[in-house]
Amino acid sequence: MRGLADKVVVVTGAAGGIGAATARRLAEEGARVVAVDLDEERVRKVAESVGGLGVAADVSSEEGVAGYLSAAVERFGRVDLHHLNAGIPGSFATLPELSAAEFDRVMAVNVRGVFLGVRAAFRRYAEQGTAGNIVITGSIGSLRGSADLLAYQTSKHAVLGILKGAAMYGGPLGVRVNAVAPGIVPTDLFAATPAAAGGKDDMSRRASSTPLRRAGTGDDVAGVVAFLLSDDAAYMTGEVVSVDGGASIV
Ligand code: NAD
Repeated sequence: MRGLADKVVVVTGAAGGIGAATARRLAEEGARVVAVDLDEERVRKVAESVGGLGVAADVSSEEGVAGYLSAAVERFGRVDLHHLNAGIPGSFATLPELSAAEFDRVMAVNVRGVFLGVRAAFRRYAEQGTAGNIVITGSIGSLRGSADLLAYQTSKHAVLGILKGAAMYGGPLGVRVNAVAPGIVPTDLFAATPAAAGGKDDMSRRASSTPLRRAGTGDDVAGVVAFLLSDDAAYMTGEVVSVDGGASIV
């Protein structure tokens, strides 16, 4: 893909299934990867495997975001691209059972974390005098409702608000902002599906009834993220690209 070689790219949630796959794919395309995650041990392993920098940071805190950016700049001198991907599923609960504390916990990572990451990216680009670009990980849940995963679905709708506002602000500056909306991808997040919600078996059954008749992989998502970050997507911004085996058209 055009325009990825030698670019410095931050990937958050890089110890997880989709983030690690993106880190690998971007490294294969010649990018220099800054892998960021709460999980220090796993993120360092991912970073090592792609010859990049691993940083343990909490994306929901301003200090965490400032910390990973300064580590990236210290090591590579600049930051060009961002994949803001860290996220948590939240508990399965019906609406009357969902606590305000749980709602806030999910919003802190999935919405505040993306807001802080996008804002920091714009500030960084302004400081550098460069125009990089950004991909956010949304979800098929960005487009649908859910009776028992309300906080997660709400958070994934909210990131589309950030996406659209950031794309409008960034367009005249040459900064593109896009999102991927994965369907069912068997990662740790997917494994968190409790038995009460049908568990893994239900997720597998739902995946096998999508048009492509299978669950997605981290690599399926990573390829689309790499494309959106690359110059091959130079005329795309504010776009939400479903990577769900066709689930969203059923
Ligand atoms: P995962 O659980 O494998 O990875 C998520 C990673 O984010 C973990 O390594 C975790 O440590 C990290 N993380 C969580 N909170 C953090 C924080 N505060 N600061 C820094 N890192 C933090 O899950 P995944 O499936 O790879 O999820 C990646 C993204 O894809 C998430 O935003 C998720 O909502 C989205 N998504 C996943 C699926 C799916 O089926 N797996 C579907 C749609 C969207």
